[in-house]
Amino acid sequence: MSKTIIISNRLPVRIEKDENDELSYKTSEGGLATGLGSIFKTGDNIWIGWPGMAFSSEESKANVKENLLERNMAPVFLTEDEVNNYYLGFSNQTLWPAYHYFVQNIIFNEKQWQSYVDANKKFAAVVAEYIEPGDTIWVHDYQLLLLPQMLRDINPDLTIGFFQHIPFPSYEVFRMIPWRQELLKGMLGADYIAFHTYDDMRHFLSSVHRVVGLAYDRNEILLDDRIVVVDSVPMGIDYDKYAKSAESSDAIAREARYRRDLRGRLVLSMDRLDYSKGISTRLKAFERFLIENPNYKGEFSLLLIVVPSRDKVPSYQSLKEEIDELVGRINGEFGRMNWTPIHYFYRSFPLPALSAFYRMCEIAMITPLRDGMNLVCKEFIASKRDQKGVLILSEMAGSSKELSDAILVNPNDQKQLVESLKKALEMPQEEQVAHMELMQSSLQKYNIFKWVDLFLGNLEEVKTMQAEMATHNLDKKSHSQIINDFSKAQKRLILLDYDGTLVPFHDDPESCAPSDELMETLKQLKSNPNNEVVIISGRKADHLEKWMGSLHSHLVAEHGAWIKEPYSKWTRNPELNSDDWKEEVKEIINFYVDRTPGSFLEEKANALVWHYRKVEKGLGALRSSELYSHLKYMRRRGVDVMEGNHIVEVKPTAINKGKIALEYKKRFNPDFSMAIGDDRTDEYMFEMLPESSYTIKVGPGNSFARFSIKDDVAVRVILKELAEADS
Ligand code: UDP
Repeated sequence: MSKTIIISNRLPVRIEKDENDELSYKTSEGGLATGLGSIFKTGDNIWIGWPGMAFSSEESKANVKENLLERNMAPVFLTEDEVNNYYLGFSNQTLWPAYHYFVQNIIFNEKQWQSYVDANKKFAAVVAEYIEPGDTIWVHDYQLLLLPQMLRDINPDLTIGFFQHIPFPSYEVFRMIPWRQELLKGMLGADYIAFHTYDDMRHFLSSVHRVVGLAYDRNEILLDDRIVVVDSVPMGIDYDKYAKSAESSDAIAREARYRRDLRGRLVLSMDRLDYSKGISTRLKAFERFLIENPNYKGEFSLLLIVVPSRDKVPSYQSLKEEIDELVGRINGEFGRMNWTPIHYFYRSFPLPALSAFYRMCEIAMITPLRDGMNLVCKEFIASKRDQKGVLILSEMAGSSKELSDAILVNPNDQKQLVESLKKALEMPQEEQVAHMELMQSSLQKYNIFKWVDLFLGNLEEVKTMQAEMATHNLDKKSHSQIINDFSKAQKRLILLDYDGTLVPFHDDPESCAPSDELMETLKQLKSNPNNEVVIISGRKADHLEKWMGSLHSHLVAEHGAWIKEPYSKWTRNPELNSDDWKEEVKEIINFYVDRTPGSFLEEKANALVWHYRKVEKGLGALRSSELYSHLKYMRRRGVDVMEGNHIVEVKPTAINKGKIALEYKKRFNPDFSMAIGDDRTDEYMFEMLPESSYTIKVGPGNSFARFSIKDDVAVRVILKELAEADS
């Protein structure tokens, strides 16, 4: 039985030592741990990571390892030096600021980089102890960017997924990192790489192209041996957990208790201590609001929760000082005996306390300068059981792409922040409810469990696609086998694409006449009554007639719209439209509706339409091209996909090269069949013809064909050999 291995820097457990040096293990309640709980706790599955503490003796390490194994976890023990250089150093002082666009905070330090490489190797070595063939590996986040390729080197057949929880910066920032190539190559060891937003994946693809020089087609990167799919899968929360907790007696009792001291309206500001969260900017906007709106003094307060984090890093220490100072200044200046403008807490709270805060605060002001996702805003929404409340959200947070019904702000625009606070304080309740309802239904649907299912489901799909698209160069052995099988066969069917297959491409499409030699070969093949030669092209009938008419063979033009049998006239394909296609296509579109917030399906008499006007910019366009591929990979026949203005329309089409190829196959019942072609439309033939057929793709790239061949010259060579084998 294959298993799933999850790897992240930190294990989802908190190990604590009591006075007697006894260790206790508390499983983390964080979003990721909850979402992946059902996975890593099952069967032989395992979560590998740093246990968060240093252990000096081998004995204590063995003891911790054993205890963790009982909980389906395995530790990677890091030394103090590694924690300082790999984690606090390279991860948090190079990658973190670079990826959050805090260029001024980036440190480039070779020693820290080396430690990052070594720590990733250490993770790989631990993972190697558990890997078995067929396992699925899911690597998480920016601390482990090199790990996917390290694992691929250990076992090239592994299924590896990678999810990055923080943003991926634009190429202009990414290129600054001296080890940019190594980082990207490390990530490309994965089969499936996903980010929270479309912008992140777009930035990643562009860096891969510019830094590593690899081409990509839509969201697929073509490596020599594999195709890597890049995607955007925004992470959700455990919606029901937050909804339930907000209604729990504990949260309600806490609210009542806190309310004894905290009167008036409340605005929530809750973040981990981090310069990316925009806490100081928010405080300054709050100050400006009080100056510009003196009538609001005494009316409401800011509940400022700052959760301690990375306090050993100097930039975090100075940020803490800055916040302390700002809070002191604002409270000192504006406070009254009976009113404190800011209630400030520098610590972390358990869930019931957070739920009480989410209940009490009518507004949440979540305005990070940059945030991969931001979960606090989602938790706030889920906790508003009466649907009253307003979210002010930074457009620089990944979550803003899903929560378009919040008041979206540019966190650097002080004036806009002040206005948004006023707007939120004055928003009528019906309006609050209307927005909240929309956001809640989206968050409920795209929850953390759905995110896990989507990621793992997509990863599996990529592996299937890789397997289907692995072509083999037509080697000498297969080449002779084709000639042999052809010679022995009683009835042979040869399907040939025209441009790029029989003749090379030409700048002027009118100038692609076949050479005399090619015509001679085809005539020779055609002269044997056991051979059926079909020229099957996207060209118009006129062209084929002009160049191939003298062959008196089967000609198929416009991908099958027009057909000409030997010595007859061109006829229009009589294939009828039917509704058979609808159910299956509907299922596929619904799959995209499910994974694309804001999209929906419209059913027309003769078409199915997928609408994505409200989907995050760019993501809709990506999904539409995925939809196209999906229909192809699902071996759908006779459906055409058309892109319109924020829609994708799927209609039945009677024809494609695959269907025509199958018809000829049925009609002649050959014991040797071969199809050669070079482009996307030929893939239909390759996909639909039975396995026993010799399908050959001309040129490089993945394909459904069994074999690939270098170019049109090689095609003419093999055709000539077949013709000669007959004579
Ligand atoms: N959180 C917490 N205790 C607190 C404050 C926050 O457990 O006192 C949690 C909060 O519920 C959320 C997480 O910390 O799930 C913060 O996640 P987010 O994505 O907003 O920010 P990050 O810290 O990952 O940058």
